[in-house]
Amino acid sequence: MAALDIQNVKKTFGNVDVLKGINLSIKDGEFLILVGPSGCGKSTLMNSIAGLEEVTSGDICIGGGAVTHLPPKDRDIAMVFQSYALYPSMSVRDNIAFALEIRKVPKAERIQEVERVADLLQISHLLDRKPSQLSGGQRQRVAMGRALARQPKIYLFDEPLSNLDAKLRVEMRTEIKKLHQRLKTTIVYVTHDQIEAMTLADRIAVMKDGMVQQFGTPQEIYDNPANMFVAGFMGSPA
Ligand code: ADP
Ligand code: MG
Repeated sequence: MAALDIQNVKKTFGNVDVLKGINLSIKDGEFLILVGPSGCGKSTLMNSIAGLEEVTSGDICIGGGAVTHLPPKDRDIAMVFQSYALYPSMSVRDNIAFALEIRKVPKAERIQEVERVADLLQISHLLDRKPSQLSGGQRQRVAMGRALARQPKIYLFDEPLSNLDAKLRVEMRTEIKKLHQRLKTTIVYVTHDQIEAMTLADRIAVMKDGMVQQFGTPQEIYDNPANMFVAGFMGSPA
């Protein structure tokens, strides 16, 4: 059974077709990367999976069940976006604990669980700080920690590292890869960084103008690009 099944999803804003019939099927534990030029519809697709946007037509199934018309809170997903939306008045500890509260983890177990997640992301020393006392990279770690604490079926990452400097980006990329290998999570991850795509992905979906141009492993896409656009975009030899 697919962890996530996107069936002929279309999205129209006014009279602009932003998603023109997207089909993607993602296996349990798979790391899917969505790439494509700015404005091709990546975030719209992510927001549709999350339920932040209502699709115009088509279906979205998570773990075999249709969620197309369910609100975000009933979709068993956790999101990490480019602008980390941490609760500014809460400490890092409480930001993460809040996700556990939503999951209805008993109060007595929350402390341990926060510490486990903090340890995974190496933010144990930051638990008593407020978001305003953190660097950009640290905030993004906390946002990931909060997502991990949710233990959702699917993680959605929309350009989570694009606000970070190059050095930190490489460091975080390595850690995300390790986390995925360790936790076997199902992830949909948007980036416009081809190297990030090639290193992290089990499979890559290359998008252009609201359509998937090619869906395959990094090797398949690099060796056998479906068209000139994919070849150019992914840097394959012509
Ligand atoms: P990407 O994430 O690939 O850069 P987006 O999904 O953000 O692309 O945007 C795809 C297209 O949809 C763009 O042309 C954008 O202007 C348009 N768009 C996105 N959100 C809205 C909206 N809420 N209303 C109208 N147009 C939108
Ligand atoms: Mg976007």
